[in-house]
Amino acid sequence: MLPFIRSDLANLVAYTPQPGGHSSQADLGSGDSTSRMCDRLDTNESPFDLPADLKQKLGEFYQREIEANRYPDGSHAVLKWAIADYVNESAALSDAPITPDHLSVGNGSDELIRSILIATCLGGQGSILVAEPTFSMYKILATTLGIRAIAIPRHAETFEMTLDAAQQAIDAACQPPVRVIFVVHPNSPTGNSLTTAELNWLRTLPQNILVVIDEAYFEYSQTSVVAELNQHPNWIILRTFSKAFRLAAHRVGYGIGHPDLIRALEKVRLPYNVPSFSQIAAQFALIHRETLLSVIPEMCRERQILYTELNTSPHLRPWPSNANFVYARLAAPNFSPDESSDSTLQQIVEQLRAWGTQIRHTGGGLRITVGSPPENQRTLERLSKVL
Ligand SMILES: *Cc1c(COP(=O)(O)O)cnc(C)c1O
Repeated sequence: MLPFIRSDLANLVAYTPQPGGHSSQADLGSGDSTSRMCDRLDTNESPFDLPADLKQKLGEFYQREIEANRYPDGSHAVLKWAIADYVNESAALSDAPITPDHLSVGNGSDELIRSILIATCLGGQGSILVAEPTFSMYKILATTLGIRAIAIPRHAETFEMTLDAAQQAIDAACQPPVRVIFVVHPNSPTGNSLTTAELNWLRTLPQNILVVIDEAYFEYSQTSVVAELNQHPNWIILRTFSKAFRLAAHRVGYGIGHPDLIRALEKVRLPYNVPSFSQIAAQFALIHRETLLSVIPEMCRERQILYTELNTSPHLRPWPSNANFVYARLAAPNFSPDESSDSTLQQIVEQLRAWGTQIRHTGGGLRITVGSPPENQRTLERLSKVL
């Protein structure tokens, strides 16, 4: 390691995103590519690009409206109003509506996670708490900032957080104290929404602990705590355009929280964090949300087919999901992951990839994104062949 690099980064393995994009990136202009032939069911994107007529309109919009030589709007003013409208509409909030003062926009919600960590825990000021298995980015980003992450387990059967362990971690007076708790609603990779017991526990947390409720899959689950936000200045909700809104290429996410918290997040972000193209694409997606979100009922039916079919396999145990993926573990001997199940799962994932289906081995199981109907058929065929 070079002598000027922080020593605590030496042990950190970089998060390696899937190759992503398509292989024609080296050859701009040639639209077809081999990786497009592959079913990419490992990152929970929408299987559907923007409809061709909308994509064309968006392209024309870019050409007409964006001056390539000018910086983007660093205040995200127009986009924030559009997001506020959408949030209020989807939560039926009319008396105490969300306004731009309650919103921060990030380069993906990943950026907001990092801004939250910088604004709360950096410099030895706090630790974070997560219940595993969960979205890996919280721990990875914490580690890159030298922030301690404390992990507690989930119940083996339901994947609810073990609330007694969570409470103990908070009461243990560890150094530095727990300052932020990250939960996903519904959780990735296990697909379960927060239960009443979990929500009730989050409601008891003291004001000096920030609760981050990541609703990346809200459009699929329709479960949200946004209506309660006014009562909890120590809660923040994260959402993204990367999943149901079909804009993963554009990197736009947002946080909804108390204006004082939002001001702190705005202080620590980069001034021009969201490119003009991305801001316009997100506004465009909100204008056309009825069209873009209209496939969700079909996606949920496909999710049910995937779950039901996987459930007929004697080798796998799938769990019900409120998101656009299904999580499954090996059925034998007791569903609980160990070294040998991990190597079996790894072999399954590699065989599927060789046949053209990419799924994710994570949290001791398989996370399979719901794709288009033909993709899901191929997933099931290939899984039954390998099992
Ligand atoms: C996909 C996902 C995100 C989205 O991240 P972006 O940076 O907005 O693409 C955030 N949280 C969870 C739990 C996710 O699964």
